[in-house]
Amino acid sequence: MTSRTSRTSREQRIADFIAPFRVEPGQKVKLGRDFAPDFKGTIGSKKRGRKLLVQGTELLSEYQSRLYADNTHGVLVVLQALDAAGKDGTIRHVMTGVNPQGVAVHSFKVPSSEELDHDYLWRYGVRLPGRGQIGIFNRSHYEEVLVVRVHQELLDRQKLPRGTRKGVWKRRYHEINEWERMLSANGIKIVKLFLNLSHEEQRIRFLRRIDLRDHNWKFSAADVREREYWDSYQNAFSRMLSSTSTEWAPWYVIPADRKWYARIAAAAVIANTLIEIDPRYPKVGKDARAALQEIKTALEKQAPEGAAPDPFAGE
Ligand code: AMP
Ligand code: MG
Repeated sequence: MTSRTSRTSREQRIADFIAPFRVEPGQKVKLGRDFAPDFKGTIGSKKRGRKLLVQGTELLSEYQSRLYADNTHGVLVVLQALDAAGKDGTIRHVMTGVNPQGVAVHSFKVPSSEELDHDYLWRYGVRLPGRGQIGIFNRSHYEEVLVVRVHQELLDRQKLPRGTRKGVWKRRYHEINEWERMLSANGIKIVKLFLNLSHEEQRIRFLRRIDLRDHNWKFSAADVREREYWDSYQNAFSRMLSSTSTEWAPWYVIPADRKWYARIAAAAVIANTLIEIDPRYPKVGKDARAALQEIKTALEKQAPEGAAPDPFAGE
């Protein structure tokens, strides 16, 4: 049993650890100037990092089971990043040890024609986690102000009414903030992670995907074409971070050049969100406990039964 004091200090350590990654509401972010992709703080070594990750995933597992039992809050983890930043690996490592019944991962691709027949938030809304659940969006509604902003021809396919394109990005930031505010007020807590990868580390990871045969499937020529839009993406990410980090759904910029560090940082941010929610196992009241005792006594009085008769005997 951990004492209340040691728990508090553990919670404090996590809060202190993630503080440098947090984008304060209203903060004007310029990636490259404000956040270093190769930051590794005071952890120092990969070995120590591995130990911390194990502790982090154990904590997540404990809290997820409470979240499930409490059945009041849901948690949505939004993961955004450029190709090869480590979204898939982060999900795999951070969620090991968590009961699969309480977690759902959704990966968003180019919208289908059915999805384009709805408003841009529709396809994300139908995949939100319910109470007691952790949902992970591998790419998310933020693509609507990222890839769609960098490649504005994608907006042409969205069938927007005439006269609504002017000021569309500012409006979308506002609409997304309000949508997230509503969700948060109704029990669905949102935590947003941007995996911040450097241009050079992306090049190294692409080369590895080409060199290692088992990794070839992860690579597509389109990824290299997207890399040519690097500056536009950094700009779109900076604006997104500046305009949509809110008290109710803050952004965290995770240094992603070291995979092991990114995983600990992501686990810590998610753990911190669960700690803040503080889900509890439902307490059984006095009357209900008395009723359980009565049932227990009755069950104990029943004679143990032998093997059930074989319904197929004699066939
Ligand atoms: P991946 O995650 O590598 O499987 O790729 C998914 C692709 O879908 C990426 O190229 C994204 O840019 C693209 N994508 C995701 N959401 C949208 C969206 N809302 N509109 C257009 N393309 C999108
Ligand atoms: Mg890809």
